[in-house]
Order: sequence, then C-alpha cells, then structure tokens
Amino acid sequence: MSHQPYETWILESNTLPVEDRRVLETHLATCEHCRALHHKWRVVQQELRMRTMVSPAPGFVQRWQSGLAARRAKEARRQAWKAFLGFMGSAIILLFVLAAYVLSYSSPADWLAAFIRHIAYAMDLTDTLFSLALIWLRSTPPALNLALWIYASVTLGMLSLAWVFALWRTSIIGVFTNEPR
Ligand SMILES: [Zn+2]
Repeated sequence: MSHQPYETWILESNTLPVEDRRVLETHLATCEHCRALHHKWRVVQQELRMRTMVSPAPGFVQRWQSGLAARRAKEARRQAWKAFLGFMGSAIILLFVLAAYVLSYSSPADWLAAFIRHIAYAMDLTDTLFSLALIWLRSTPPALNLALWIYASVTLGMLSLAWVFALWRTSIIGVFTNEPR
C-alpha cells in the first residue's frame, strides 16, 4: 500500500493547505503506518524546539551589559589618560627645547643677573614678567620667536581641550552606567 502523498504531507503539515490537512487527518484515522510517522515527526519537532530554546542563565543579559559598560568606561579612561600624557609629554619636550635654545643664546648667568636686577628694581610680579618677556623678545630673532610662541600656545590649547574632552566623556559615560567616579 502506498502512503503517498500522506507521508509528504505529514512532513509539510505546518504549511499544508486546510483542504489537504483535512484529507490527511481522515487518512491518519485509518492508517497506522502514517499515524506512527506523524507521531515521530511531532516528537522530533518538539525536541528541536526545546533544544533551540535553551535559555541563558538568569541575569546573564544584565551581567553581560553591565560588564560591557564597565569595559567601555575603562577603555575611555585609558584613552583619556593616553591623550593627556601625550600632550603633557610634548609640552615638556617643548619646554626643554625652549630652555636649550635660551641657554645657547645667552648664558644662564646673564639671565639670572637680568632676573635679579628686575626683581630688585620692580617687586611687582606683573612688571617682572613683562620685563622678562621683553628681554626674551630682544634676544631672539622675531620669526623663530613667533613660531615658538604659536607652537607653545597651540600645544597648551590642545592640552586644555583634551582635558575638557576627557572630563566630558567620563561624565557622559558615568551618567549611563551610574558608576561612581
Ligand atoms: Zn498511510
């Protein structure tokens, strides 16, 4: 006895048209062979559904998400520190370059003498700084001077921008993770 098309219909029972389904159910009531196949197929489908629906341990999603946020915050802090140290490093190098330049142009004794003279003449701090700036301007070529001052102010500007950005990023991340800073 042939069990077609019933065997095919059993395997396609999820998408079977209503008319065919009715015919199949009539056949299942009378045919033990197809009833057995139908039963086995249902067991297999149930098994598959149960296996794919294995759920993660309770709290897994929350743990993973909070772990992710913490990792992101840590990475952001690391980046901020890297940027800060980088700018600090270049600022310090600039200071050394300036110091070396000044010492190559005039002896430290000259500078010290000028400094002490100005301290002695004008105890006013603003006046002293102004005079030091004038000495510097008089003893160096204007073009180099300008370039150095532009470089110094750009570096300092970037440094403060980096700091503001780092603080802003840390506070934004803190708002999202409620992490104590
Ligand atoms: Zn049959």
